[in-house]
Amino acid sequence: MLEGRAAVVTGSTSGIGRAIAEALAAEGCAVMLNGFGEAEEIERQRAGIADAHGVRVAYNPADMTRPDEIAALIAAAEAELGAVDVLVNNAGIQHVAPIEAFPAERWDAVIAVDLSAAFHAISAALPGMKRGGWGRIINIASVQGLVGSIHKAAYVAAKHGLVGLTKVVALEAAESGVNCVAICPGWVRTPLIEKQIEARADADGIDVEEAGVAMLKDKQALPRFTTVEQIGQLAVYLCSDAASTITGVALPIDGGWTAQ
Ligand code: NAD
Repeated sequence: MLEGRAAVVTGSTSGIGRAIAEALAAEGCAVMLNGFGEAEEIERQRAGIADAHGVRVAYNPADMTRPDEIAALIAAAEAELGAVDVLVNNAGIQHVAPIEAFPAERWDAVIAVDLSAAFHAISAALPGMKRGGWGRIINIASVQGLVGSIHKAAYVAAKHGLVGLTKVVALEAAESGVNCVAICPGWVRTPLIEKQIEARADADGIDVEEAGVAMLKDKQALPRFTTVEQIGQLAVYLCSDAASTITGVALPIDGGWTAQ
């Protein structure tokens, strides 16, 4: 379905981004990986996706807190893969603390990675998409872009901002064949959430599995985690013709979290 297209997926060395990169590649899309990690493991992942799906897969180590490195990431993808048709702004970090104890440095870091990075990447990639007359920008927001939770001031502010940015980009790009959508996952079991599950287990004196179930029950109607593969398939759907009029929206995939 995406043969001849090329994608940049930020933060694709782990979790949701990794699964989205894999799902796009499975549809024939060339992919530029990005994110932190051990060089050997990243090369194994890059070669593994390329071999499994017969597509070009590259890697760029841009730090998404750095506007100059983000511009270089988009330029490298255009040079190495020929274009950026699909941009998935996925890189994200979390910090959990009450607002009075929230370190200013962590606030700045979360806003930089979870919000400003998407602005910089979109402004660098949009001109090429407009020239090509087709593009899909997928921002990985969160249910926390739609509702708040205690102790997540920076994350909730960044994700609400990302939902707002999604609407503006969708409106500005509407006549150029470029759609922009935010995906808003509920709980997905990745390294980002594992830390929160462990903290809950410690706080309640329960084991990690029980803590995972308790977190699900606190927030979701469905007592199970969304999988990274399900988010990958949602991203693929958003790149399909069937989704060509879906733009400017924030799509929850959240086990009923925001229904209540
Ligand atoms: P993860 O920790 O498994 O992966 C995060 C990725 O971002 C990694 O590849 C990491 O290297 C990369 N990254 C972090 N800082 C970076 C930086 N400065 N520059 C470049 N790359 C950087 O987390 P995940 O759960 O897969 O999260 C992916 C996205 O999904 C995030 O935006 C997160 O907010 C969002 N999300 C996750 C959940 C969940 O339950 N896991 C729910 C809603 C939204």
